[in-house]
Amino acid sequence: MLKVEGLEVRYGRLTALRGVSLHVERGETVCLIGPNGAGKSTLFACIAGGVSATHGSVTLDGKRIAGRRPEQIARSGLSLVPEGRNIFKTLTVEENLRLGAFMAKDRESIQARLDEVMAHFPRLAERFRSSAGSLSGGEQQMLAIGRALMTGPRIMLVDEPSLGLAPKIVDQVYEILMSLRDEKALTLLINEQSSKRALRHANRIYVLRSGEMRLEGRAEDLQDGEAVMRAYFGFD
Ligand code: ATP
Repeated sequence: MLKVEGLEVRYGRLTALRGVSLHVERGETVCLIGPNGAGKSTLFACIAGGVSATHGSVTLDGKRIAGRRPEQIARSGLSLVPEGRNIFKTLTVEENLRLGAFMAKDRESIQARLDEVMAHFPRLAERFRSSAGSLSGGEQQMLAIGRALMTGPRIMLVDEPSLGLAPKIVDQVYEILMSLRDEKALTLLINEQSSKRALRHANRIYVLRSGEMRLEGRAEDLQDGEAVMRAYFGFD
């Protein structure tokens, strides 16, 4: 469904990604792990159209999306939940969600999307008219996921959903992500700090370090965590 080949991204003299390739098949949950500064957020931003690549290609269902604008990519069915969530804190929960519906054509379809998001996030329904800044960290993460759902994606890229959240709250966020995968047949690519959590939830794992892909494998083959740790820390 999503195919990234030989991607290179530079920030001035710094090469953040060197020849990175990755693929995600329909219905899969794939986790990307790697140390800070490995280039994970750059890879997500590049796939979603926020950062330009100097080399390589990104295709979604066989169509090139590299070089397209983020809103065009969203229209193709790919949605990004960005690192840090990018919630508009002075706006209400409802207003934040409506911002995610920029592609919907009419009121009815926006309302239908809102109803669907509310069904997955009862807590957001309760806080519908509250300012987003008054939400807890976990609720803000759910709002960011809810907003990404408002575009009606087929594949969602979730950048560090665990960031700054207590383990119990992260469990809740993952429960929701897994229910979206199962109930909406949503394909997921998740940037996850914890390799344990990645191994628990993903079908496949990628390890990125220093801008290069160091390991790819099925989670069931990597359960002892040894190969993942070696790739992560560079003992290879
Ligand atoms: P983290 O987990 O800390 O977010 P990451 O794996 O997501 O790390 P990136 O944020 O993609 O890594 O950063 C990759 C490299 O690119 C780092 O060396 C970072 O300092 C650099 N970098 C990221 N964004 C920019 C930018 N806008 N301008 C210049 N350098 C950048």
